[in-house]
Amino acid sequence: MKTVRDTVAILLAFGVSAFAEDVHPQRLAPVPIQQVVVHDGFWSPKLKVWREVTIPDCLEKFEQDGAFTNFDRIREGTGGDHAGPPWYDGLIYEMIRGCADFLASERDAALETRLDGYIERIAAAAARDPDGYLNTWTQLKVPTHRWGLNGGNDVEQHDVYNAGAMVEAAVHYYRATGKTRLLQVATQLANHMADVMGPPPKRNVVPGHSLGEEALVKLYLLFREEPELKSQMSVPVDESRYLKMAEFWIENRGNHEGGRSFGRFDGPYAQDHKPVLQQETIEGHAVRATLLCAGLVAAGNVNGREDYLAAARRLWENMVQRRMYVIGGLGAVAGHEGFGPDYVLPNDGYLETCAAIGAGFFHYNMNLALGDARYADELERALYNAVLPGVSLQGNTYFYENPLQAGPQRARWAWHSCPCCPPMFLKIMGALPGYIYAKDEDGIYVNLFVGSRAEVRLPVGKVMLRQTTRYPWDGEIKLFVEPEREMEFAIYVRLPAWCGEPKLEVNDHPLAALPKVRGYARLRRKWHPGDVIALSLPMPVQRIKANPKVEADFGRVALQRGPLVYCLEAVDNGGHVRNLVIPPEAQLSAQHRAELLGGVTVIQGPGLVVHRELWSDQLYLPCSNVPGVIHTEFTAIPYFANANRQPGEMMVWMAEVAPKAEPLPPPTVATRAKPSASHCWQNDTVSALNDQVEPAASDDKTIPRFTWWDHRGTKEWVQYEFDHPTKVCAAEVYWWDERRIQAHCRVPRSWRLLYQSGDAWKPVTGASAYGAQMDRFNQVTFDPVETKALRLEVQLQSDWSGGILEWRVE
Ligand SMILES: [Zn+2]
Repeated sequence: MKTVRDTVAILLAFGVSAFAEDVHPQRLAPVPIQQVVVHDGFWSPKLKVWREVTIPDCLEKFEQDGAFTNFDRIREGTGGDHAGPPWYDGLIYEMIRGCADFLASERDAALETRLDGYIERIAAAAARDPDGYLNTWTQLKVPTHRWGLNGGNDVEQHDVYNAGAMVEAAVHYYRATGKTRLLQVATQLANHMADVMGPPPKRNVVPGHSLGEEALVKLYLLFREEPELKSQMSVPVDESRYLKMAEFWIENRGNHEGGRSFGRFDGPYAQDHKPVLQQETIEGHAVRATLLCAGLVAAGNVNGREDYLAAARRLWENMVQRRMYVIGGLGAVAGHEGFGPDYVLPNDGYLETCAAIGAGFFHYNMNLALGDARYADELERALYNAVLPGVSLQGNTYFYENPLQAGPQRARWAWHSCPCCPPMFLKIMGALPGYIYAKDEDGIYVNLFVGSRAEVRLPVGKVMLRQTTRYPWDGEIKLFVEPEREMEFAIYVRLPAWCGEPKLEVNDHPLAALPKVRGYARLRRKWHPGDVIALSLPMPVQRIKANPKVEADFGRVALQRGPLVYCLEAVDNGGHVRNLVIPPEAQLSAQHRAELLGGVTVIQGPGLVVHRELWSDQLYLPCSNVPGVIHTEFTAIPYFANANRQPGEMMVWMAEVAPKAEPLPPPTVATRAKPSASHCWQNDTVSALNDQVEPAASDDKTIPRFTWWDHRGTKEWVQYEFDHPTKVCAAEVYWWDERRIQAHCRVPRSWRLLYQSGDAWKPVTGASAYGAQMDRFNQVTFDPVETKALRLEVQLQSDWSGGILEWRVE
């Protein structure tokens, strides 16, 4: 971590000069989405999936849930039940904000029409109240508790959060489409909040869930930038009230009306233990905390107050240096979905997708406020490693939690009773094109390496900047500079902290030393149309160690290449990963696999498989002969692509020494065999047959299983192929049977074993018994036979399917 600003190398080469840096906050301005076109091998296909699959998928699922019907009930004034949790209105507004940013990149008439329809329903509901107050949950369930007052509680009700989300959606939708319908409603609601909340005699209310802080700063900025817009509003607009509202919410934490008494969700849970400007550490619910911090920076960036930015920096340092996972995820503790103490980062922690996204907004705002590349470094870490894994590669299944190690049955969900993460995901990914570049009076900042074209308006004139790259798979980046005429300005190129030896060329002339300013290479010169900057970021595989204070990672190593953090999945590593060791001396290599997971670079190298094996009589042995340790080749994939294939164990922090691994039972005839089947249900796996995971019962859903579902009543088989002729004389089968959970699998009607003899399958002879008992291994012995393959053939019960949890052979 760079604690002191980088010293500036004085350099005068090829017209490039560097100046002593400014130690004061360096405010950057965004290069907005509308001025950037993404054309990138990595991001463009993903943006297409989110636009074409994820957005419609989420909107449909919210419709099915009744999230829009809530607004209709308010409009009709009929009352009735409320669908979903109290923050459902907010999630709809978040969807609108996310979609708006996608529209800002590329207009889409069908999507816009759909959103306009939703906005009409929202506006009609808001019109029922003379003040424009709207929170369908509070109105339907606890109508006397508006804003959490009169015995209510905004930590539960989310009145202020929902209102803030509406304001933010309205600003984004206006900026994307120029339409003011939602902005009218949101401005009235913001006025109403500013009427109700504030210092006495107003009510001393602060948000139970942050988001509104930054939203109101955005509303303030919109009216300040476009004052003529005020006359189009049906309510009076004094934008300074919106900034003051945000400031009030920030400064009045910990001392507002009535305190917070909401069970275990007191004080720090909602960052409500003391005024934010006095808070030393980042605490509580991680989504609330990061969104509050994003708002704190946004407000500080506008009001110019040092104490705001100092508090933001303090909380940011605490978060990034002591409470953040290597993937950029946050929130170690499931109980309150939030931060634990410093350095407490268990690998089975919570890491809600939304928290990483909130942190992404925080990092981005810090970069704008302080102009330092370290904040863009952390934005990059979060985007690639903690946000992306929140949605499947197909774009229609999701993760709420993103732990750094997971058991065999972890799977993405299609929907959730609290589907907060998909809208948050769409918000940050919709905003992505606007995060690539920034600017100030001096010039252009290149913050993310994404193939793109941007039109940047500087005080000296207009510049087209085109970026080409295969990032994150390689670190060669080209920037084609096209100023409207020859003119002098600076281009700041981020030098990522993960890269030890970045190299830069301007028009094929290498720069001997890099002029570093705030983590950027500052290239100031007279730029001509046709100038080319080439940045080269070597990407060796890096072994990452955690601070020894992080107990969970002691004796462990994580792999990183470029900005990507890697994980190991069972499917690439013989069915298990917790038993694997990556020794410190292992030579690691990277290889691009176009066919895998949409095209990813994998990391491979020699590892050790640790088995639980008893030593015989020896007291000492050379390391090379230690029983139970087998050499293997491991394969790691980028963490963002985890859980896109069959379920199985996953791990980021790998054991570096054998005692840190969880040993497997010793290898057996079955574990050395290759399993296959006549048919396997898509969500199940044949690797369950010989994974040595012991079932607790025939309906143990916590472990991997194999089933023939959805075949019923048929004759089916599974088989083991051995790599050389193997003598076998016994087998044990643990059947999968769902009778107690009233599903479709039963033990088979009958079964038998066959062995391969030449091209033919012959029944084994002398079989003792072919049992079909539940909740136990069914053992059969038979006359020994040497064969290259053994087949287990079943006749399923008519109308029922079947399956197997484990099949042992000896
Ligand atoms: Zn979430």
